[in-house]
Amino acid sequence: MTTPCIAACKNAGGICSGCKRTIDEIVSWKELDERERAKLMSELAGEISTHTCPSCGKPAQCDIAAGKSTCWCFSVEEREPMLGLETESCLCRDCLTKQPIA
Ligand SMILES: [Zn+2]
Repeated sequence: MTTPCIAACKNAGGICSGCKRTIDEIVSWKELDERERAKLMSELAGEISTHTCPSCGKPAQCDIAAGKSTCWCFSVEEREPMLGLETESCLCRDCLTKQPIA
């Protein structure tokens, strides 16, 4: 099975600090079909993105902007807002993982 897991899984407030999947995504991974898994792998790798991260400028994905009713970030523990950042755009998974839990 395709998996982005790098065997460095650590739950960092609802998101894995190793593969950057949310715990929900990890739990439901085996229920996704290959196409859905491939899509999520591309999002994690930054090959698919809806915008650039307002903090680091790397590709970031907002599932709401992509037309879904929920976003992956909803299943992550709420983080402190990033200081000095006046934007509504979501952070990328890397930056969100690094933010302290609110
Ligand atoms: Zn970022």
